[in-house]
Amino acid sequence: MTDYNPIKIEEKWRKKWEEKKMWKADIRKAKKPYYNLMMFPYPSAEGLHIGNVYAFTGSDIHGRYMRMRGYDVFEPMGFDAFGIHSENFAIKQGTYPREETGKNVNNFREQLKRMGAFFDWEHEVDTSKPEYYKWTQWLFLQMYKAGLAYRVKAPVDWCPGCKTVLADEQVIGGKCERCDSVVEQKDLEQWFLKITKYAEKLLNNLDKIDWSEVVKTAQRNWIGRSTGINLTFNVEDLGTNIEVFTTRPDTLFGATYLVLSPEHPEVENLKFKIKNLSEVEAYIELSKKKTELERTDLAKEKTGVELAGIKAINPANKKEIPVWIADYVLSGYGTGAIMAVPAHDQRDFEFAKKYNLPIEMVICPNYPDPTCPVLDEAYEGEGYLVASGDFSGMPSEEAKDKIAKFVNGEEKVNYHLRDWLISRQRYWGPPIPVIYCDKCGIVLVPEKDLPVELPYVENFHPTGTDKSPLATIEEFVKTKCPQCGGAARRETDVSDTFLDSSWYFLRYPSTESDKKPFSETITKKWLPVNMYIGGKEHSVLHLMYARFITMALHDMGMIEFEEPFTKFRAHGLLIRDGAKMSKSRGNVISPDEYFESYGADALRMYLMFLGPYEQGGDWQDRGIVGVARFLKKVWSLMARDRGQGIGGKEEKSDENALDKIMHKTIQKVTKDIESLQYNTAISFLMEYTNFLASHTPYSILHTPYLETLVKLLAPFAPHITEELWGQLGNKGSIHNEPWPEYDPEKIKDEKVRMVVQINGKVRSKIEVNTDAAEDYVKEVALRDEKIKKWLEGKTPKKIIVVPNRVVNIVI
Ligand SMILES: [Zn+2]
Ligand SMILES: [Zn+2]
Repeated sequence: MTDYNPIKIEEKWRKKWEEKKMWKADIRKAKKPYYNLMMFPYPSAEGLHIGNVYAFTGSDIHGRYMRMRGYDVFEPMGFDAFGIHSENFAIKQGTYPREETGKNVNNFREQLKRMGAFFDWEHEVDTSKPEYYKWTQWLFLQMYKAGLAYRVKAPVDWCPGCKTVLADEQVIGGKCERCDSVVEQKDLEQWFLKITKYAEKLLNNLDKIDWSEVVKTAQRNWIGRSTGINLTFNVEDLGTNIEVFTTRPDTLFGATYLVLSPEHPEVENLKFKIKNLSEVEAYIELSKKKTELERTDLAKEKTGVELAGIKAINPANKKEIPVWIADYVLSGYGTGAIMAVPAHDQRDFEFAKKYNLPIEMVICPNYPDPTCPVLDEAYEGEGYLVASGDFSGMPSEEAKDKIAKFVNGEEKVNYHLRDWLISRQRYWGPPIPVIYCDKCGIVLVPEKDLPVELPYVENFHPTGTDKSPLATIEEFVKTKCPQCGGAARRETDVSDTFLDSSWYFLRYPSTESDKKPFSETITKKWLPVNMYIGGKEHSVLHLMYARFITMALHDMGMIEFEEPFTKFRAHGLLIRDGAKMSKSRGNVISPDEYFESYGADALRMYLMFLGPYEQGGDWQDRGIVGVARFLKKVWSLMARDRGQGIGGKEEKSDENALDKIMHKTIQKVTKDIESLQYNTAISFLMEYTNFLASHTPYSILHTPYLETLVKLLAPFAPHITEELWGQLGNKGSIHNEPWPEYDPEKIKDEKVRMVVQINGKVRSKIEVNTDAAEDYVKEVALRDEKIKKWLEGKTPKKIIVVPNRVVNIVI
């Protein structure tokens, strides 16, 4: 057997797989369809990012595992090629977006092929091609017809860098999520999609889908539904009122201060009484630069400033309480003011601790015991009221209603979610398929006239006015009204990139159809997506939009499901030497050099070995060496001398030990792959390999032990395992082999009898597993009937455990 040469082996198998189209699922006839989706990349000019390889490898491992489980796995790949990124790059290069994007896509495809993933290239989509965006425009028309698209003049976020408006979700920390410019406010007439109509469903369905909690939580927070009560607080002496929205009127007696949003109109009215006005005004200025997302980020420290000289009256107990402004309270949400109950709201608790405000507990978990626990965090649960006047002693659930009535509260439901602004004053996107006629008003482009092709524009640079560069092309703008035939003009804005990606998973299986965006029968067969893996930075962007569009299409009767992704898992972030990778830091890694020097198998395994896939990992340049060495070790196991059995009894016992570790390894690796714990799965494979390697004279070639190793390793390192599979004398591809099963009988733990002594005298015996934890052994000993009798109810002073031998109880 020759030395391990990953580069040669990988090239050979890539070719063979390509020839046989090993990645192909039979779209029409597949018996056990399994749609394994990953978030398609934006094809940047820099080429494939190591973070892309990280994300896609984890997803491909899952796909390969499901394939070995007997599923027909469909693993498509495509390109989110429209959008500001590509356009900006073309501007910088002085080239044209179409050319630039085409080049980048080709480069990306070649790099992606080096990964050794089973991507189905026959179903590739490119959102910037007319055969794709024709259907994005079609989607817009359907939304309009369903009453889900509308045009209105509204205050919107404008990015001076990108020279376009942005959606609420695309402004992060007051800055454009793409170019980092500080966004400005403008009043403009724009197109919106009515996502708020689905607020309730978007929220409720979260309970039915198997998604990463972190994403569900982000969506819940973003949708921000709450039912509660509006309550009125009087401002002392001034005769004005501040209305607050609260979901917990039962805690009203514990409201020790009020917090207004910096934009609250009452701040202006109270100005003449505010003693620290300059400080307050400086704070208001500062908060104007932040966006909602930044202001409401739970992880960020809250800031605020007291309106010195202003006091409000708690309507329940008539106590005087201070009034603050803080930017974590939003003007657009509720009444723009809250009552702060630090004892029972964690956000208020942290704020009160920081600014030394009173914390008064009014809900006690263990009433009538009057001693409430000392809080080191807010107690947000239910309980009984204390220090609440006549309501003391009442269950908190009951008190909600009673206290609300007592202070004349009014019931309310609130959402944070806003409609999705989709107009962009840019060039590189699908033109919004609408025509304006002086006589007929807004007229849709008829479906038969789609696509409205994006024309070639000499100067495609954003104009900086509130018009897209398309507005300068007379032959594009001037058109006939489809309704009355009179002179009319086209909409010149293009739609948001996130509209392109809101439905791409519907297109993948149906790319062959040019009559429909997605075929009915194929969609029924393959969707909803079985597993979707991607970044959590898309929680309230792409992942929310895709759910909304799917629900809308469902309600139009076009698809049978409401939720596009049955299962979604967010992968973690790959960092480098503890720092985030970014172009500006100059620490971005290109996968190419690793493909060239170590091979894709080593790179895949190293990436997955860095940490739990859902948490991410820290890349170290030399780290890959260890994994490369491991693959070499697997390779060299094959080169072992064979036939030198050690014979007799010892060989037998060895076989038992080997059996046990093999079955245990199958069990552990299977469990870990299923829960995406790829790093520990790899550890178990390493342990198992070491074990096999240490059984030197014992022939393991042509035994199930080595075959099992190769199979378990196959999803991680597809090339080397394919090669070894052949060398073990097998025909066909390892990637079509069934996944190994473990025998539960073989992994039973051995029992051991342990002596239990009391003060050094043997009093009983117990039976436990050889690897039982010490605490468990102690518990079993103390529960033993004989020992109980000898102890006569006394509490042992000390219990000493000698593993697998003795438990000594000292009384
Ligand atoms: Zn921007
Ligand atoms: Zn007309």
